[in-house]
Amino acid sequence: MVMNIEPLRKILELECKKGYVDSAVIGGLDRFLGNWAGQAIESITDPQLLSRFHKLHLINPNYTSLTKQQRKEWINNVVHFLDGAELAEEEKGEVKPTPLVGRRSPKPKQPSVIAEQSIDSPITVIRGISSSLATKFNRLGVKTVRDLLYFFPHRHLDYSQRKSISQLIEGEEQTIIANVWQAQEIMLGGRRSTEAIVGDETGNVRVVWFNQPYLAKKLATNTRIILSGKVSLFKGRHVFESPEWELGEDKEPIHTGRLVPLYHLTQGLHPRQVRKLLKEVVDQWAWQVEDFLPLEIRGRCNLLELPEAISQAHYPEDEVLKDRARVRLAFDELFLLQLGVLSKKRDWQESQPGSPFSAKTPALDTFIKSLPFELTAAQQRVLNELLADLQKPRPMSRLLQGEVGSGKTVVATAALLVAAANSYQGAFMVPTEILAEQHFSAICELLSRVGHQEEGEGYLYTYSGLLSHPLTVALLIGDINQVRKQELQKRIADGDIDIVIGTHALIQKGVEFSRLGLAVVDEQHRFGVTQRSALRQKGASPHVLVMTATPIPRTLALTLYGDLDLSVIDQLPPGRQVIKTKWLKPGQRDSAYAFIHRQVASGRQAFVICPLIEESEAIQAKAAIAEYERLAEEVFPELRLGLLHGRMPAVEKDKIMRRFRSGELDILVSTPVVEVGIDVPNATVMLVESADRFGLSQLHQFRGRVGRGQEQSYCMLLAQNPSEIGRQRLDIIEKVQDGFELAEEDLSLRGPGEFFGTRQSGLPDLRMAKLSDVGLLELARSEAIKLFQTDPDLAAPEHQLLAKAVIKVWQRGGELS
Ligand code: ADP
Ligand code: MG
Repeated sequence: MVMNIEPLRKILELECKKGYVDSAVIGGLDRFLGNWAGQAIESITDPQLLSRFHKLHLINPNYTSLTKQQRKEWINNVVHFLDGAELAEEEKGEVKPTPLVGRRSPKPKQPSVIAEQSIDSPITVIRGISSSLATKFNRLGVKTVRDLLYFFPHRHLDYSQRKSISQLIEGEEQTIIANVWQAQEIMLGGRRSTEAIVGDETGNVRVVWFNQPYLAKKLATNTRIILSGKVSLFKGRHVFESPEWELGEDKEPIHTGRLVPLYHLTQGLHPRQVRKLLKEVVDQWAWQVEDFLPLEIRGRCNLLELPEAISQAHYPEDEVLKDRARVRLAFDELFLLQLGVLSKKRDWQESQPGSPFSAKTPALDTFIKSLPFELTAAQQRVLNELLADLQKPRPMSRLLQGEVGSGKTVVATAALLVAAANSYQGAFMVPTEILAEQHFSAICELLSRVGHQEEGEGYLYTYSGLLSHPLTVALLIGDINQVRKQELQKRIADGDIDIVIGTHALIQKGVEFSRLGLAVVDEQHRFGVTQRSALRQKGASPHVLVMTATPIPRTLALTLYGDLDLSVIDQLPPGRQVIKTKWLKPGQRDSAYAFIHRQVASGRQAFVICPLIEESEAIQAKAAIAEYERLAEEVFPELRLGLLHGRMPAVEKDKIMRRFRSGELDILVSTPVVEVGIDVPNATVMLVESADRFGLSQLHQFRGRVGRGQEQSYCMLLAQNPSEIGRQRLDIIEKVQDGFELAEEDLSLRGPGEFFGTRQSGLPDLRMAKLSDVGLLELARSEAIKLFQTDPDLAAPEHQLLAKAVIKVWQRGGELS
């Protein structure tokens, strides 16, 4: 007798396709197998095969009691077994005596049931996704089946409260299962709509769907319907208004009666359609996602299996599982991020030794003594930390955090000077041209106090008498003419320039340093990891200092910048004032303008930040121009106004900034480009339009543009129609001055992804991880460190999937920046 393999194979294939819900065969797999195996066992003569047969419990697998992941594994094993059995039969057929050694190994043929690689195929492989639908999903960043599985709902509606009609309460989300008694099209508020009467054993209730006349036809009398939604009171009676609905009660509900997912949509995608599709996709594909997390870690941290987590994140059975799913997925994000960060740190430390500097240089003392102010204790401490690093053979890799105006630039300048004194080059990279120009002129100003300024053309100066060789400082931005640029590039390559200050232009092709010893990155949150490392790569293991005025809570800093050591300037120079901050109601706009008038009349200057329209420089620029014209003509006709936006040529921007700095302009109307680092001590007023649209840290940055001189300074915030979260932010920024505290608040309001603008940071996306997850963050970090200690290359066979996952998320993050 021959084993009847094909039918079982077919059934298992189907079961697989249907998502392991035991629906491939009527009566369930257990029953089918009981029968099948009873017959099959008689045909098995090979003892090895027989033992495998028993190990698989084919006669009574108790399939119903397995989790989906276990089902998947079990079916996989059965398929392998069937392959082996088939082979044995073929051999029997050929009447060859089975040799004891040299048995043919099982066919290399992949079990046809499971096609792992298809998880990464384009979503068009999914039944029901046409190329036009695929385009819509692509717009949401969903390209592959995996992307779709990771396209999580932004929240769930709780429709799990099942009630009978007599128990319905006004105003709550509730679900009923009822019979349709009658349904008809009616006119409601001039719109074709549907009205139905439905009932259960406890009573009847009216249901209306505004604007959806086509429903009337679908709801035939006597069909079973599930309704979820809010009940209101109309003429003393309950009525369901446009509830979610679905027919039938034997299939698992998607839109009603449970925690129902809400997805971000784009034009042409409808909630019901996306929900239905995702249910199918999740059921069918989630179980094919391989869990990359080592079993040990999953167990120790009590995390759900990955397929289960993905499935529960979309269609949770209950709140507890929904939460566990999020925890698992958030853990993954943080853990993978951590592993990437740790390996970057290791790569960095193990790369060729850096360049130890000698910090004992008379030029440094001369420079510090010549400053028009004394370094604060915090600046001095941080400078010492830097100097200690610079003397080591291991390249420095340090993050310097310091409140707006805490004086980071001068500390960085001192370090650059040390590099130059050691005959190394230094590079200072900043995010905008305006800032580059400002730093350039500030640094030149400080240097001209100690050295004799010789050559000079606005973008290059040489100082003698300070070092044993002439000290040359240059400005390199994108927007200079080619001849100059090439000249600068050549002189940088020749080692003729000691310190170069610039924008992204510094990391472009064509810029080659002769001996880059120190790279400084200012306002580092504006740069991606890749940009940071691009600058690093311009030298042979240069020391690297990155600076930020966005204070980052320590755990988060360790997580996101775990490859860096931390320094903090936690003190402002003396005499700094508290900037009086006020959130004005729309009606107070005129008094804001009157206030600006008064300040200007007493010799001060003001910033006006234009409304944030969209993240598009072009649109921003247009809005800024319009606002500038309005203010210049209608509000401040007798004052001198200037306009600044990102679309202006750099020379224009420079000119405007210079005029504003030198007091030729009273008011600078600007897009948010002034956010970063602009320093005009005489400016005392800042008016921010649509302030509710900015994050707290960004508002704090704006505010830091004033209060840089001796005068009392003010920040006025206008908001037309703030959202709830906008109100919270305005409330906080009014009361809180401390940047660290604001950062914490910002993080809890926004989550780390948005906080850092992950788009720019080049870090992997954090979609599920929240900042309130400090515990999880620490757990992920400690697990990553533990793993890293035993297998830093993730070379062990059980870490292969993990290694792939790390590469995948970091690639995605890296690509974006
Ligand atoms: P940030 O840390 O925001 O980059 P800056 O380096 O731009 O701050 O410094 C802000 C202003 O404070 C500059 O005008 C700078 O010259 C000045 N400054 C820096 N250090 C001190 C100090 N110790 N005492 C007084 N003023 C200082
Ligand atoms: Mg700065």
